[in-house]
Amino acid sequence: MQDGLLQNQPLAAHHTFGLQANARFFIEIKHEDELGALLGLPYEPKLILGGGSNIFFTTDYPGLVMKNRILGIDIIDEDEDSLIVQIGGGVVWHDLVLWAVAHNYGGLENLSLIPGTVGAAPIQNIGAYGVEFDSVFHELTAVNIAIGESKVFDKTACKFGYRNSIFKNELKGQYLIIRVKIRLKKRSTNLLWSTVIFVPC
Ligand SMILES: Cc1cc2nc3c(=O)[nH]c(=O)nc-3n(C[C@H](O)[C@H](O)[C@H](O)COP(=O)(O)OP(=O)(O)OC[C@H]3O[C@@H](n4cnc5c(N)ncnc54)[C@H](O)[C@@H]3O)c2cc1C
Repeated sequence: MQDGLLQNQPLAAHHTFGLQANARFFIEIKHEDELGALLGLPYEPKLILGGGSNIFFTTDYPGLVMKNRILGIDIIDEDEDSLIVQIGGGVVWHDLVLWAVAHNYGGLENLSLIPGTVGAAPIQNIGAYGVEFDSVFHELTAVNIAIGESKVFDKTACKFGYRNSIFKNELKGQYLIIRVKIRLKKRSTNLLWSTVIFVPC
């Protein structure tokens, strides 16, 4: 049996509603290299799970639940005004927001405290307070869970809409998003200081 593959695993701790249900097979994916061997196995159907905040298990799941635990937040490119950050799909979304705010990188502030993982953010193009995820999106890499092939999706290919994307429509359940790249702004310290100095008393 595949390393880390569990049978009859309770799912209560893996979804927000916490209802008791079991997955016939369950695995946590910590690295994309683990996917190749796993996808060849005949454990059908397969379900991709992030933080479980938008999934409701009411009965046992008859196939394989694949929980995304691929981590990492890395700056991979930058210029004077902005930077490209690559994030593992299993990173908790709010941890990413806290990281950006702590480093004074702008773009994610309105999206704080949205439950779930980075890998799930493109699925419904998460949003709050008038800001949508696609406003910072650069590109993502996802693996086709039927054939194991990875593919890069740019903004056009994702077909983002209001709480919508290609991953909720024609590609529903077909791709596991392993990493996401976003563009954040470098804030001007001078601007912040001048705001503080010229606030009227
Ligand atoms: C209290 C509460 C408040 C919320 N507030 C907001 C809000 O303000 N704005 C907003 O937009 N949403 C909100 N949501 C919805 C939720 O935060 C989002 O849908 C979030 O993106 C779900 O992330 P998750 O990791 O929990 O996904 P899950 O619930 O685990 O999965 C959701 C869907 O995405 C798929 N999926 C998950 N990870 C991947 C992956 N790596 N690759 C491919 N498919 C994947 C799953 O198969 C499933 O179809 C809220 C939910 C709750 C419970």
